[in-house]
Amino acid sequence: MVIVMKPNATKNDIKNIEEILKELGLGVHISTGSERTIIGVIGDKRLIADTPLELMPGVDRLVPIVEPFKLAGRTFKPESTVIRIKDVEIGSKKLVMMAGPCAVESHEQIIQTAKFLKSRGVQFLRGGAYKPRTSPYSFQGLEEEGYRLLAEAAKETGLLVVSEIVSLKSIEQAVKYVDVFQIGARNMQNFQLLREVGRTNIPVVLKRGLASTIEEWLNAAEYIMNEGNYNIILCERGIRTFETYTRNTLDLSAVPIIKEISHLPIIVDPSHGTGKWNLVTPMSRAAIAAGADGLIVEVHPDPKSALSDGPQSLNFDTFNSLIDEVAKVAGVIGREW
Ligand code: PEP
Ligand code: MN
Repeated sequence: MVIVMKPNATKNDIKNIEEILKELGLGVHISTGSERTIIGVIGDKRLIADTPLELMPGVDRLVPIVEPFKLAGRTFKPESTVIRIKDVEIGSKKLVMMAGPCAVESHEQIIQTAKFLKSRGVQFLRGGAYKPRTSPYSFQGLEEEGYRLLAEAAKETGLLVVSEIVSLKSIEQAVKYVDVFQIGARNMQNFQLLREVGRTNIPVVLKRGLASTIEEWLNAAEYIMNEGNYNIILCERGIRTFETYTRNTLDLSAVPIIKEISHLPIIVDPSHGTGKWNLVTPMSRAAIAAGADGLIVEVHPDPKSALSDGPQSLNFDTFNSLIDEVAKVAGVIGREW
């Protein structure tokens, strides 16, 4: 439920409501809009059954939240969320770029890539240490050593690190090395994992499941937020359809839909979304034009020798042109690159 305050409600009116809710054992989220304040109520609404909040000074009306997701929805929090990680913001006017290889393969590979990406203004280095591969015979990642190599590359370049976690053990290892957790498409409905990352305050890139609806995806975010971690960046990475020319069908309509119904920032992964390196730049342009807050892109110094996802990885030259193209679109729609 949210409490919509009158446009002329005073600071005291708002404080009064906040205190009443807290005394009843409810959580409170205050959104200060340009015209009026909206107070989101977290917890069991039966606790306020005997308190006539609508009669309190400054209150305009009580509005129930009808969506199945509450904390992730715009009814609860009308203003867009901006997530701050050190000196980088996600969800503000300036776009973010997360880039790097699908998997961390070696010291040389990750350092070389990180230095290149830093020189192009990228903020986040991505790289998988645990790789949930379709086949158990494919390269599974360097595990903790992979996280360690990412942290080393980050230290040398000043990049922030985003890397996938797949289990409680990997979370315990990753907290020492990474700035942002990634929850992969295959784990989007691993509810225990969602709860575990919810109990940390580390920002999370939450990828959309391979066959998940937008509502299921926002419910996955809700699991994390319900444990107290509100730092979620949604990531559209393509869904499975009947089309076989591309690896997945990149659902760019998810971007404006999320912007309408949720306050969380959203980025797009055109690499997994298409599976083909030559489609990455056109779909990146489209993603930014659709309103995405940034991109996560696979980049490898030598894609043909990559241990995973080589066919969809850009090399340094093609990544250079991606940056140029995205900057042009950003300028047209009034965003900064
Ligand atoms: C990845 O980012 O390398 C990855 C495995 O992504 P997804 O979970 O979207 O398939
Ligand atoms: Mn990959």
